[in-house]
Amino acid sequence: MSRQISSLLAIAAVCVTLTPAPALAQAPKKAPVDCEQVKCIALTFDDGPGKYAGILLDTLKKHNAKATFFLEGQYAKSRPTYVKRMVAEGHELGNHSYTHPDFRKLEPWEIRAEIKKTQDAVKKAAGVEPKLLRPPYGMDDLQVSDIAAEFDMPIILWTGGSEDWKSKNVEAIKKKTLEVAKQDGIILMHDWVKQTVEAMPSIIKTLQGKGYHLVTVSDIVKRQNLKPGDVFPLPEGWEN
Ligand SMILES: [Zn+2]
Repeated sequence: MSRQISSLLAIAAVCVTLTPAPALAQAPKKAPVDCEQVKCIALTFDDGPGKYAGILLDTLKKHNAKATFFLEGQYAKSRPTYVKRMVAEGHELGNHSYTHPDFRKLEPWEIRAEIKKTQDAVKKAAGVEPKLLRPPYGMDDLQVSDIAAEFDMPIILWTGGSEDWKSKNVEAIKKKTLEVAKQDGIILMHDWVKQTVEAMPSIIKTLQGKGYHLVTVSDIVKRQNLKPGDVFPLPEGWEN
C-alpha cells in the first residue's frame, strides 16, 4: 500500500470515528452513579411542582444534579410542563397526594382516591407514574403502608429537613440543609419556597465541593431492596 493511500485511509478512519460525536453531544449518556462507591445524597422537593420549579430545574441542570419531586396531583395537573421537564431531565417523581390532606384523618377509600388521582395526573402530564409515595405530614401508623402496598409503592420519608417552610430565609435554609446533610441522606425541601430555590446554587456547589453526588431517592435506596408498603427511613422506634 502506498504511503498516500494509507494516509487517506487514516483520514477516513478518523472521519468515521468522529461521525457519531454530534449525536453523543446531544444526549450524553453517563454511567449511573454507584452510591456504594461514592458519597451520595438525595434532595427531595415536596408539594410541587411549585411556582419556581422552572428556575430550580435550570439550576439542577447547570450543576448536573438530580433530585426527587414528591408531587401534589393538583399541581401536576395545573403545571404539566414542569412535570414533563422533570422526567426528561432525569429527575425522579414521587406521589405526595392530590390535595395534601392529613392521611391520618382520612378513610382508606379517601386515601386511595388521593393517590390514584395523583398517579393519573402525573401520567397524563409526563407519561409515567410515580413509584414512590410520601404521605403529607409524614406518618405514624401502618394504615398508609397497607395502601401503599396496594399501589406497589414503598413509602419514602426523610433523614433530615431543611425547615425551609418555617424559616423562609436563604441563609437559614442553606445552614440547616448543610447541617443535616450526610452520606445517603434524604433531605426534605419545598420548591414553592422562593428562598429555597434562591439558596440552591450555593447549596449544590457546597455539597459537590464536599464530594457529594446529588442523586435520586432510588439511587440511595437501591441497596435497601424496598418492597411495596415498606417505609424508609423507618421513623425512630419503629421496627419492621
Ligand atoms: Zn407536603
